[in-house]
Amino acid sequence: MTKREFLKMAGLLGLGFPLQASLVSCEDTSMSNPIDPNSDSVLIIGAGAAGLTAGYLLSQQGINYQILEASSTYGGRMRKTDTFADFPIPLGAEWLHVAPSVFGEIVNDDSIQVNQEMIPYSTQDTYGEWEDNELTIDPIGEYEDLKFKNSTWFDFFDEYIAPVVLPNIRFNTIVSTINYEGNDVIVGTTGGQNFTANRVIITIPVKQLQNSAVAFTPPLPSSQQKAIEKINVWDGIKVFIEFTEQFYPTFLGFGGQTANGQLEYYDAAYGQDSDRHILGLFAVGESAAPYISRSGEELKSYILDELGEIFNIDVAAYYVNMMEQNWTNEAFIGGAYVADNANWLRVSKLGAPIDDKIYFAGEGYTNGEDWGGVHDAARSAITAIEAITG
Ligand SMILES: Cc1cc2nc3c(=O)[nH]c(=O)nc-3n(C[C@H](O)[C@H](O)[C@H](O)COP(=O)(O)OP(=O)(O)OC[C@H]3O[C@@H](n4cnc5c(N)ncnc54)[C@H](O)[C@@H]3O)c2cc1C
Repeated sequence: MTKREFLKMAGLLGLGFPLQASLVSCEDTSMSNPIDPNSDSVLIIGAGAAGLTAGYLLSQQGINYQILEASSTYGGRMRKTDTFADFPIPLGAEWLHVAPSVFGEIVNDDSIQVNQEMIPYSTQDTYGEWEDNELTIDPIGEYEDLKFKNSTWFDFFDEYIAPVVLPNIRFNTIVSTINYEGNDVIVGTTGGQNFTANRVIITIPVKQLQNSAVAFTPPLPSSQQKAIEKINVWDGIKVFIEFTEQFYPTFLGFGGQTANGQLEYYDAAYGQDSDRHILGLFAVGESAAPYISRSGEELKSYILDELGEIFNIDVAAYYVNMMEQNWTNEAFIGGAYVADNANWLRVSKLGAPIDDKIYFAGEGYTNGEDWGGVHDAARSAITAIEAITG
């Protein structure tokens, strides 16, 4: 189910999200002025899932491009660590929310076989619910998301996409101005460099546009500015805690997903080739507030107290180690992703191309059907490249 279908369902249930399909302005790629691969060039701002996918597809078509990335590495919100456990830990994107055929969509080359082992949850796995100071644990039932086996979203991009685009990425290059007054687009950086191209694809997080990290000349169209201003980007944090014992169910929720966020503990070592007991915490939106306002020892005490109360045991006795990834505090990111309950019509306006010169791709710049996930970031990049190449 796409987010829009979900929200439609929510509307039917009286939760009041608007759905006016006739108002959606579908992107009309036939109007675009196709790029000339012999003379034209593209600049991509950001080397996360969207920027990497866009660059990879341009490579396939032999189109000249450069990716300008503010940080010293690629992957953005797909970051992982190999050092906390004996399997890779995804610090941002973790689950696959759509069918695995999306890997083939991204690779876009039938001669390449994608070997990405994915693990489904079993209906007998357990879901704990902590509500009104009471813990109930039941079988999980149907659960559609898939977990990567000894791998992550980052590893998929690292293996299949990054090797192709790596030579075209300029790291530590923070874009601060975009001037699209003339025929060419001039992109300026905080370091005083200027880059010129015929087309620019912007993939920086929506939060960065909200924070005015980039100044546009002329200013963005007012409908887009309004969408940027009004859209709700959730805060977000992930924490991983190693214990000597597994005292927790596969998932532990707190009254399910609410309109204001999501909070879950989960077995982060699920299905991995590992004997380690790693509990993950995923918190976005308002549910993340108690965790993102703490760090280090204070965060550890808060979490151990919370788990101790829920499981009614001295969890500190099992504690080994902890690591945290606070996305709200992360430079060049600033939050988790566009809220699940954002207005889908507004989402569709965020990423409208401008003057056949400026394009947007990324988890928040979609057609409003779905947003927030890596697959959305990659698919929006495919759409942008289709629009550019005609
Ligand atoms: C806690 C958390 C859990 C998640 N879980 C899942 C999940 O289970 N499954 C899933 O599919 N998705 C998940 N997501 C969402 C997923 O991570 C994102 O949808 C996806 O990674 C976004 O890719 P992107 O290319 O749009 O943006 P990003 O990955 O943010 O890439 C943007 C890039 O732009 C760069 N940048 C920023 N500003 C500038 C600038 N001024 N100049 C140059 N470069 C700049 C950044 O450094 C970054 O590398 C999760 C996200 C979070 C935070």
